[in-house]
Amino acid sequence: MDMNIKDIRKPDGPQAHTLKPNPASSPAETEGLYTSLAISPQVLAYGEQIIEGLKDRFGQIERTAEYNQLKVIKAMQESKVSEACLLGTTGYGYNDLGRDTLEEVYAKIFHTEDALVRPQITCGTHALALALMSNLRPGDELLSPVGKPYDTLEEVIGIRPSRGSLAEYGITYRQIDLLPDGCFDYENIRKALNGKTRIVTIQRSKGYQTRPTLSVEKIGELISFIKEIKPDVICMVDNCYGEFVEIMEPSDVGADMVVGSLIKNPGGGLAPTGGYIAGRKDCIENAACRLTSPGLAKEVGASLGILSSFYQGLFLAPTVTAGALKGAIFAANCYEKLGFCVIPNGKEERHDIIQAVTLGSPEGVIAFCKGIQAAAPVDSFVTPEPWDMPGYDSQVIMAAGAFVSGSSIELSADGPIKPPYAVYFQGGLTWFHAKFGIMKSIQQLLDDHVISSDRLKIV
Ligand SMILES: *Cc1c(COP(=O)(O)O)cnc(C)c1O
Repeated sequence: MDMNIKDIRKPDGPQAHTLKPNPASSPAETEGLYTSLAISPQVLAYGEQIIEGLKDRFGQIERTAEYNQLKVIKAMQESKVSEACLLGTTGYGYNDLGRDTLEEVYAKIFHTEDALVRPQITCGTHALALALMSNLRPGDELLSPVGKPYDTLEEVIGIRPSRGSLAEYGITYRQIDLLPDGCFDYENIRKALNGKTRIVTIQRSKGYQTRPTLSVEKIGELISFIKEIKPDVICMVDNCYGEFVEIMEPSDVGADMVVGSLIKNPGGGLAPTGGYIAGRKDCIENAACRLTSPGLAKEVGASLGILSSFYQGLFLAPTVTAGALKGAIFAANCYEKLGFCVIPNGKEERHDIIQAVTLGSPEGVIAFCKGIQAAAPVDSFVTPEPWDMPGYDSQVIMAAGAFVSGSSIELSADGPIKPPYAVYFQGGLTWFHAKFGIMKSIQQLLDDHVISSDRLKIV
């Protein structure tokens, strides 16, 4: 539109003022706010310099987010999400339109036959335990071809003896570690697959390990290999932290079940609890029978008033995940140039939102977490301390000032207090919060004398 602004404004009218530059948007004002939030000019300059080098990467992330945003909208439209879907049921929850429609939306997004998306699934571990326990029978074997699973699954499986574990039900477990270079040990995976193998569990994200996260493409290669040897085996992917990072999901490359938590990526920061399993109809039916009861399956489970947050969170999830990804890449580049080992490194492709930084000392891990905590919108004034967290075999320190307790799609950091003293950083509902948090962590390392300020000199 070719319109001359001078023609449409009155010289002394209120419109004249709106054309003046807004002083609050100038960098000096922003810098002033950073200073008042205790980010030193040196740390800010360091951060800005890192961001200068990341413009192309950020553009790529935006394009993935755009695709996934459209994928979510399309699924919602095709499933005819209506205002009535946002309401909930009470009691038994029969004929819960919103719940059933949301499960259809998830199935469309993941391109699966069915899905179970429930507030009664309490967390990611519960969703994974549910998927496993409902689809395994006594005498069956579970195989992990990608090494040790996430810490909390050790008790689910019975790797560490635990009440109610799969081991107590006569379900055995086998594990093939990744090769030292991070590749699959195809030869030993072939040998491990046997007549008893019923489920193969593949963890996409690295969790509390320093191995690389698996790309969807790599997961697809592994599943093809396994299915060629044993076509009837169920391939389950622990999808925690991976949703919407790529344009494909593991269910697009042959996974029979994908499993995750709603207080990570797919809840978009708004879901206050919950978990999901998307997959083959018979697998989901088994999971539903276990979650509720044989005979009742998916038909019960009141959604109360929670559904609008599930829908709206899912709608926001692609952009929220993109913000978290930018934060992870920013953190990797900041810490790499400070001389720390970071996984993934500053240049690598991303397959989840987690950033591991090996700080090498308990003091480093604690300072990092203090910095993240001090950047939070909620509980910024508290100091995180290591504690004995249920389900973990060493002390863990966690920084989280979240709107949803324990939510790790919100800016958070945690790390077990054991060598190599790595901290796992993730989330950020907005990129600007992630940026602020990471600069705050660097500031804390300086203030606590874990690093000296001459480390900040780059170019
Ligand atoms: C977070 C996570 C889990 C467990 O989820 P919770 O919600 O903490 O129980 C399992 N696997 C991976 C890879 C995770 O990141």
